[in-house]
Amino acid sequence: MHGLIMESELLISSILRHADANFADREIVSVTVDNPLHRYTYGDCFRRARQLANALDKLGLSRGDRVATLAWNDYRHLEAYYAIGGAGYVCHTVNPRLFPEQIVYIINHAEDKWVFVDLLVLPLIEQIADQLNAVEGIVVMTDDAHMPETSLENVRSYESLIVDESDEYEWPELDERSAMALCYTSGTTGNPKGVLYHHRSQILHAYAAVMPDVMGLSSFDCVLPVVPLFHVNAWGVPYAAVMTGCKLVLPGPKMGDGETLYQLMEGEEVTISLGVPTVWLGLLQYAKDSGKKLNTLQRTVIGGAAVPEMMIRQFRDDHDVDVIQGWGMTEMSPLGTVSTPKAGTEDLDADEMITLKAKAGRSICGVEMRIVNDDGEALPWDGAAYGALQVRGPWVCSDYFKLDGEGGAHTDDGWFETGDVATIDPMGYMAITDRTKDVIKSGGEWISSIDVENTAMGHDAVSEAAVIGVPHPKWSERPLLIIIRANGAELTREEMLGWLEGKIAKWWIPDDVVFVDEIPHTATGKIKKIELRKQFADYDLPD
Ligand code: AMP
Repeated sequence: MHGLIMESELLISSILRHADANFADREIVSVTVDNPLHRYTYGDCFRRARQLANALDKLGLSRGDRVATLAWNDYRHLEAYYAIGGAGYVCHTVNPRLFPEQIVYIINHAEDKWVFVDLLVLPLIEQIADQLNAVEGIVVMTDDAHMPETSLENVRSYESLIVDESDEYEWPELDERSAMALCYTSGTTGNPKGVLYHHRSQILHAYAAVMPDVMGLSSFDCVLPVVPLFHVNAWGVPYAAVMTGCKLVLPGPKMGDGETLYQLMEGEEVTISLGVPTVWLGLLQYAKDSGKKLNTLQRTVIGGAAVPEMMIRQFRDDHDVDVIQGWGMTEMSPLGTVSTPKAGTEDLDADEMITLKAKAGRSICGVEMRIVNDDGEALPWDGAAYGALQVRGPWVCSDYFKLDGEGGAHTDDGWFETGDVATIDPMGYMAITDRTKDVIKSGGEWISSIDVENTAMGHDAVSEAAVIGVPHPKWSERPLLIIIRANGAELTREEMLGWLEGKIAKWWIPDDVVFVDEIPHTATGKIKKIELRKQFADYDLPD
């Protein structure tokens, strides 16, 4: 017997309608290439999104067609999110920082019909345009006054595309399982794989994201997503923040710059911000060097890579800011866990609370997780047993785009293999120890590179640390610690090894320390361990 509840599809256009009715005056502030500080309201945003939807319908697109964006976080990109997905097309956000060959592969694999590009990204598109098989036209996200000379054909400015369009639009009543967004994994090996989200998954994910124990968003908040709109839908912020009526601050191309971020946060009274650990290194360093404090920021959501304890401590001690570590994946929309406290953690002292927050966190209702051994048997949640982490839930991908079951990432009983290795403690807090392929096995035992990196990062003279396994005749592999020293700091190998002593298991202490000027990162801010392993493949460890 079915229940007697109205049939109502979960569609992103419903977020837009709700926000338009309730928060039309809420502000959206953006840094763009053609305007240092653009301001308008939700009402303006949705009016222009409806104009864009009308324009898209005239481009000859069919339902489900993919429209790519290569753009930074700003108001036009946000309008495109809602217009493309809401009108029944698929908003394919492409990371402009990828190598041109990867961008060509991704756009061709997705068979994108139109491409929306930021002014700064136009030269890149000019370079690859003749290799883009299905692309029929380019929209440059600016106005005619700022349109540069270009060799491209069928190209026009965003403003000229929408200017004559009506701002009335009937958002179609789609099936909630219709695709509406597409992201490719950052993939450090092999070709990137596409994850195709539907309206239902994004709405459920947004409801989960705003919960008090997750991001705790409300209309009193001012949110600054440093995480790019092309990195897993900016972790759901465009839906979650708009659903709750938060003021939005979009940093445009300036997202990596500590000073700009600081000024935006103070000037706009930002209360919550989100990003990967590397961007916070820049902001914290800027604040430290200039003796400034973050006065309005209350919390930061940090994820995408392990969050060093030192960062959580610095946010708390210097700025009175609460760090919420999040773990997730492109394949998970992305939210899986958050490190917020729960009943039962009241008695933790300040240091124990930092240790708790340094874990990836507990699962969000909607995501189930388990850790399994090599035989696929579930392991206990005792905080000690390590296993391959698997998840399932209504915003976890069931397959990759156009791979038809060949993605090889799902178990026979319907769980997704995350490729992460983790422990889960009796309170349900999960801690990532490594990527499966980055695991260091020494004498048959696993060493957690993340734990060693975090402990090294706790030293004041360390700006960034990475640990990799290098071949060893006796132990098969031993850890090598690679360090970037903090600005002007002095640190020797012996001092570093002395610092680690007593803080991590004796046999986890790296066999050597090398100091470098740069550690390679992926386009989404993760350390490129593959490249480091190649670079140090022939490294001679001391006896
Ligand atoms: P992506 O799909 O690019 O967001 O990458 C997902 C991967 O990033 C995960 O499978 C983890 O390996 C890593 N990751 C994300 N969040 C965390 C975290 N809080 N701690 C450690 N690794 C993380």
